[in-house]
Amino acid sequence: MSILPRRFKRIKNVLNCRIENLTVLVENVNKPHNLSAILRTCDAAGVFEANFISETNTVKTFNSTAQGSQKWVKLNNFESTLSAVSELKNKNFKLYGTTLNSKSIDYRNFDYSENTCFVLGAEKWGLSNELLSMVDHSIFIPMRGMVQSLNVSVAASILLFEAIRQREIKGILPLKGEGLNQNEYQKTLFEWSYPELASMYKKSGRKYPTLNDEGEFDQTTNN
Ligand code: SAM
Repeated sequence: MSILPRRFKRIKNVLNCRIENLTVLVENVNKPHNLSAILRTCDAAGVFEANFISETNTVKTFNSTAQGSQKWVKLNNFESTLSAVSELKNKNFKLYGTTLNSKSIDYRNFDYSENTCFVLGAEKWGLSNELLSMVDHSIFIPMRGMVQSLNVSVAASILLFEAIRQREIKGILPLKGEGLNQNEYQKTLFEWSYPELASMYKKSGRKYPTLNDEGEFDQTTNN
């Protein structure tokens, strides 16, 4: 059965605004509500995929804080800091490590309109020294209260929406799918519209069918 036209339109509208070159790398944040809140913020900001390092390789769980956003933001899982950093650097991301150490610079001093990855640390310990030694810049959000730091998901929100604000001012926020490469766009459009079918196609190694403007299988190209 075909997807409802209204649902397809909504999926397309969201996908049209997704951004491939803005992301987060989260190191050992293991509390489900924090990871859920970060993913929900990524979805709200239009981030296409998020990255997660879990050295213990624990299975991530999401709670109601996520509001289902884990379905709409791809999560790349890395078992080591080095593999995560290498992959992001190969994709030309600039890494902004978040830390309150003395070398850190106020986050408002940077331009986040090019490939940007905010690197966020664990609830108790913050970022590891290993990861801090690999980032391009260390940044902090100025604090004015008694408590030393923000909740990690709150820090993620401030930073991601600052990047969105800057890009909006520059007129470079995607509105018509230009934030994703076309293969990724078509693949994700099918997976979001027909999730069960997509996993069947994946298992059998078959190519996804093309969809027409109404979200139906395009008879002219799929025969
Ligand atoms: N004691 C830890 C430390 O010294 O980093 C505090 C960790 S904090 C609760 C968890 C994460 O939230 C941090 O690793 C960082 O990613 C982010 N964070 C919290 N407050 C921040 C701030 N003011 N500026 C930048 N990042 C912050």
